[in-house]
Amino acid sequence: DTVLLANRVEKTYPNGTHALDEVRLRIQRGDFVSLLGPSGCGKSTLLKMYAGLEAPSHGHLRWLGADSPAKSGLKIAMVFQEATLMPWANIATNVRLPLDLAGVPKAESEPRVQRALEAVGLGKFGASYPRELSGGMQMRASIARALVTEPDVLLMDEPFGALDEFTRNRLDADLRALWSQRNAGGGKPLAVVFVTHSIYEAVFLSSRVVMMAARPGRIVADLPIPEPVRDD
Ligand code: ADP
Ligand code: ADP
Repeated sequence: DTVLLANRVEKTYPNGTHALDEVRLRIQRGDFVSLLGPSGCGKSTLLKMYAGLEAPSHGHLRWLGADSPAKSGLKIAMVFQEATLMPWANIATNVRLPLDLAGVPKAESEPRVQRALEAVGLGKFGASYPRELSGGMQMRASIARALVTEPDVLLMDEPFGALDEFTRNRLDADLRALWSQRNAGGGKPLAVVFVTHSIYEAVFLSSRVVMMAARPGRIVADLPIPEPVRDD
């Protein structure tokens, strides 16, 4: 069941930078794919295309077979390297934002926010303000805000790149557990596309590692990760 497809995608930015060349990549429902490669190999560009934020110069993308995310009905959420929380609003209000924008009534959104906070280990922090939380906890809140809409696809652009190694390792393990839980038993499967330049992170987290090279950006390997590598 293909959720995201890139077929012979090329991207040349208006300034002439050839960012992607002949990229073919199929993301299946429930996949956890890491995009691994050096700075400038086009990882963010590809992620933005999957989010519908950039168009290819040649080739095409498909979302559940449709030619735009809107037509597909696919729910896509994105997490960036910065937590990008509104500093004047508490954590619960920050996490509720996508539901408020969708017009979900509070009676329904509040329990969903609480469940999303609990899923990332912030069950007791809804009333806290972003500045009261550590960098790792702010990132957890930003993941909760992405998950609260129950997306089919979570696009993450170096989400833990600004954190210290210990915090990052804990977030990696918790993200991995969260994804496993979503895809075990009954729930709605979640596909994750995770941009990183850490080989360790890619292998530890993913069910597939897609390696890219630069100038121009292209895919040079697409490797399944066998189950026993992980210990969850
Ligand atoms: P990565 O995420 O792997 O570091 P990017 O997708 O950010 O790679 O960038 C790929 C290439 O495209 C780089 O050479 C970068 O400088 C260039 N690039 C990215 N965004 C733009 C833009 N908006 N305009 C021009 N060049 C860009
Ligand atoms: P992480 O962000 O991965 O949870 P941290 O090192 O940031 O790890 O925090 C470790 C733990 O310390 C947190 O899980 C939380 O329980 C507690 N903690 C951190 N910052 C605060 C805070 N501002 N208020 C209360 N507890 C906190």
